[in-house]
Amino acid sequence: MATGIGPAVRPDVDVVVVGAGFAGLYMLHRLRGLGFSTVVLEGADGVGGTWYWNRYPGARCDIMSIDYSYSFDPELEREWQWSEKYATQPEILAYANYVADKYDLRKDIRFGTRVQQASWDAAARRWRVSTAAGDEITCRFYVMATGCLSLPKSIDIEGADRFGGETYYTHHWPHEGVDFTGKRVAVIGSGSSGIQAIPIIAAQAAQLTVFQRTPNFSRPARNGPTPQQKLDAFKADRDAYRQAARLSQAGVAVPITQVSALQVPEPARRAVYEAAWDSGELLPTTFADLVTSAEANETFCEFLRGKIRSIVKDPVTAEALCPQGYYYGTKRPCIDSGYFETFNLPHVRLVDLRKTPISTITETGIRTNAESMEFDAIVFATGFDAMTGAIVAVDIRGRDGLSLKQKWADGPKTYLGLTTVGFPNCFLVTGPGSPSVLSNMMVSIEQHVDWVSSTIDHMRRTGLETIEPTSTAEAGWVQHVNDCADVTLFPRADSWYMGANVPGKPRVFLPYIGGVDRYRKACDEVAQQGYLGFRFEGAAGAVCNDGVIRRLQPDVTIVLEVIESLGLPPVESMPPQAARALFDALATQRPPGPAVGEIVDGTLPGAAAELKYRLYRPATAGPHPVVVYYHGGGWVLGSHDSDDPLCRDLCVRSDSIIVSVDYRHAPEDRFPAAVDDAFAALRWVSSHAEALGGQPGPVAVAGWSAGANLATVVCQLGRDAGGPAIAGQLLITPVTDADMTRPSYQQNGERYLLTSAMMRWFFDHYVDVANRSDPRVAPLRAGNLSNLPPATIVTCEFDPLRDEGAAYAAALADAGVDVQHIFARGHIHSSLTMVDLVISGAPYREKMAEALRRYLPRQQQPLLRHKLA
Ligand SMILES: Cc1cc2nc3c(=O)[nH]c(=O)nc-3n(C[C@H](O)[C@H](O)[C@H](O)COP(=O)(O)OP(=O)(O)OC[C@H]3O[C@@H](n4cnc5c(N)ncnc54)[C@H](O)[C@@H]3O)c2cc1C
Repeated sequence: MATGIGPAVRPDVDVVVVGAGFAGLYMLHRLRGLGFSTVVLEGADGVGGTWYWNRYPGARCDIMSIDYSYSFDPELEREWQWSEKYATQPEILAYANYVADKYDLRKDIRFGTRVQQASWDAAARRWRVSTAAGDEITCRFYVMATGCLSLPKSIDIEGADRFGGETYYTHHWPHEGVDFTGKRVAVIGSGSSGIQAIPIIAAQAAQLTVFQRTPNFSRPARNGPTPQQKLDAFKADRDAYRQAARLSQAGVAVPITQVSALQVPEPARRAVYEAAWDSGELLPTTFADLVTSAEANETFCEFLRGKIRSIVKDPVTAEALCPQGYYYGTKRPCIDSGYFETFNLPHVRLVDLRKTPISTITETGIRTNAESMEFDAIVFATGFDAMTGAIVAVDIRGRDGLSLKQKWADGPKTYLGLTTVGFPNCFLVTGPGSPSVLSNMMVSIEQHVDWVSSTIDHMRRTGLETIEPTSTAEAGWVQHVNDCADVTLFPRADSWYMGANVPGKPRVFLPYIGGVDRYRKACDEVAQQGYLGFRFEGAAGAVCNDGVIRRLQPDVTIVLEVIESLGLPPVESMPPQAARALFDALATQRPPGPAVGEIVDGTLPGAAAELKYRLYRPATAGPHPVVVYYHGGGWVLGSHDSDDPLCRDLCVRSDSIIVSVDYRHAPEDRFPAAVDDAFAALRWVSSHAEALGGQPGPVAVAGWSAGANLATVVCQLGRDAGGPAIAGQLLITPVTDADMTRPSYQQNGERYLLTSAMMRWFFDHYVDVANRSDPRVAPLRAGNLSNLPPATIVTCEFDPLRDEGAAYAAALADAGVDVQHIFARGHIHSSLTMVDLVISGAPYREKMAEALRRYLPRQQQPLLRHKLA
């Protein structure tokens, strides 16, 4: 009987949970502890989920058992000792059974009960859950704990049902086991399950033929006893040990590195990879950029291919086993026990399906387009319809009969991977949009179960009956999940993370790759902010604190966190010299930016004295168009060095010469010194374009922040002075006004590196209050904005200067100027300049470069002109 919550007509139980794997078991335990009546419906005849079904030979976990186990009860941890580093399936299943017995869970689990349909009855505010046997059970809350890897992918090989010999499926292995002694066996599939099963089947079978479509990266598991160091750390402080896992990237505490694979010399890099190979761990510490940089990742791929080539004696087989065409980690990597060595056995053969695909399975064996083979047994290790398969296999109907399967036809949409709009009081454990399969699932399962149960408890305490995410919150989370994926190499692979293994499944990156730690923080913050993005209804009416929990780009967040962790003093509290020294020091820590053809440092005549410039020339054949660039830094800070990576990037992307010109800085030289120098530099570069190796004709100007202010001011000055001719202006988060009352100052003035206080400090050093309306300080205030060069103005969402940049774009457009306004969602004032650090800024820099290429088309090469003539 339901307890504690509910309308006049009570449902059968408070909560129905589908699935009695590790998620369902813990959910039941937690809810029961909170006094909610709960029933678990499970299709299998026993507990354990994954470990109930996947009984194939060699099945083991590949996260160390000490980590891949529940942490909610220290007593359980004391009672249960794992016999190995990576426990076998029977041992993990025994553990699940032990848990079920210890907490007396079976009495609330209905085994052999497959859920077929669940529909929301809005009037009664309850779910009606029906089973394959035709029973119905009603509940207030409906929890899908159906597993990420529980619905096998259907076999899409012609003739699969014709085979007259023995057929086995790794995910549905006979409980009594299989003896392959003396048999001719085929294994189709070489993912995690195949890689574990193949060496053991090979040890029994008379002949083993492995049919491989995609080779996988695998490293030796080096199974054995749990490392003593781990046991010691656990014993010394189990709370700290478990907490470290909860606050880690993937649910296992491993040392974090900031080192790039490309920044270390080859021998040092190799040493790191050798250590990873020797570690016997799925998640060894390697380099920071393997997930984001194709070039860095390829160094590890090639190392691993080298290992395969060194193990497998037949070079053709070795080559076929070498993964190609995708990056390490973007498909689930494996650890194995003698997998590659198995292919050296005389009775083991590999068939590369990319070269000789299966035409059909016959009554007696398998026919490829090259030959026919006879087998006594075929083992299918063909994987799962991951993450969404088991959820949409149940016909779930939400508000107004909305079908979840239909809602997700173009890819799953969830809020936090836990809930989805249109399906009140329905929770998903480790659903799409949560870290799930990219994590130690035990950690993720516990976190989800804790969050769901405490939310249901919160609703009971506050008299709320229904919970549903808002469309705004869900759309924001989907965006954030995609933003996180898009800065990595993951979306480039045809992986099951992308749904690519199931024909017709939409290509969407399914899990959340932002990290277990950040994900937990987001979930906690949602609850702390009055369940941000959720709408509740209860007897007293509706409650909703609508909003989006993560709006910054994920890599911008990381940069902000790193900078915050340095505990630097605010710039405005420092004398300018000290602030400059700090900026110079910080500049040495960042990635250098791309290589260019040539860099030349020189001087040019400024308005008062010589000025330094730095010229970046592309590696392509010249002459190139010329861009005059002004660095940022509030007219007080900055130099060629400060904007060096950005200039390199613009040079390479736009295929132009970038001349980064200096100007006098305040407070030593106050307004209008910087403007005078900027204009003098423009004149000099324009008149020396050819001498600098550039193409003749107009130049373009570009700048960032205060440099963008100077860039547009020289456009106004040039127009009024009748030259030099300027083909276009690229203004990256420009200062266009000295008015600090715009909303973007109020919204973004404190947390995003450039603060209101810092802008005040810049202005105070640069220019007297009386002059702040001068168009050479506030170009937005110029009386005449017509006849200016075409402009590309970039504004960032979390920049105090956002609104004045947008206002300038609008004002130029009103004045008839050709304007392109690029709005960078989730970015801050400086993040687009952080080349190779803020990867999500790259598409915007590409747009900027496109603008420069448009303003300055490459003129025909003299040779070509001559030929055409
Ligand atoms: C071979 C293999 C090895 C793995 N190794 C690891 C590892 O080392 N580390 C790791 O973190 N993760 C691993 N995983 C992932 C693993 O799935 C999770 O770790 C974890 O076991 C999932 O638990 P769960 O309770 O969420 O789902 P599951 O264990 O999949 O349980 C879901 C249950 O729901 C039931 N169910 C589904 N649909 C219905 C329905 N309609 N009606 C009734 N019942 C239903 C299923 O029968 C199943 O029992 C592995 C997965 C596989 C397949």
